[in-house]
Amino acid sequence: MTSSFPEVHVLQAGYARWSPDGKSQRADGTIALVIGEKKIVVDTGLPKDKALILAKLAEYKLTPEAINAVVCTHGDADHISNVNLFPNAELIVGFDIYHDDEATFFQKNYLIAPNITATEMLGHDDRSIGVLVQTVRGLIAITGDLFEAENDWQDVASWLAFSKKPKQHVQTRARIWELADYIVPGHGPMFKVDKSIDILAHEKAALSELLATTSNVYGDVEV
Ligand SMILES: [Zn+2]
Repeated sequence: MTSSFPEVHVLQAGYARWSPDGKSQRADGTIALVIGEKKIVVDTGLPKDKALILAKLAEYKLTPEAINAVVCTHGDADHISNVNLFPNAELIVGFDIYHDDEATFFQKNYLIAPNITATEMLGHDDRSIGVLVQTVRGLIAITGDLFEAENDWQDVASWLAFSKKPKQHVQTRARIWELADYIVPGHGPMFKVDKSIDILAHEKAALSELLATTSNVYGDVEV
């Protein structure tokens, strides 16, 4: 019997590198493809990524017209800038689901296809979602900027810099860390979750110290 579990492919691993003066970043978001009963693109990068997306889809013998759903994990430019490539896709952004100009809404979870669920991942901002995919390798969480990259728990400032709701962010990170076997973060390659690490304890301690002296880059952190 062939497996009916979906597969997750990272079309582009995102990155984020600060300039030496700490005033700017060169950054782009991770772009993922889920192939199951539906073909789903999760996050669509910056405008410069159009050719890359088309080329990578072709490697899986897919055209943009074949994509059934597009998920944007949150509204930042480096995660949303190619949604226009997919004319037949339902568009899932925040907690809204668009078919053409018709919107429907969900609260915590939306089952996109068997074993593929869009789910609330609040913290980076108050509209953030991610996608949970049950695969033969285990549960893969595509998280947007809930996680920046592997080992970002060792540098809480790296994700705190862009977090609107850091206390909620810490809680959601811990929940997904417990749930997932693999994480596809917003600005790095997929990694295996190391369950021996108690990120909640570590990050709570780091956060209370950091929040005493730091804000996010927007200066509007909610503590
Ligand atoms: Zn990002």
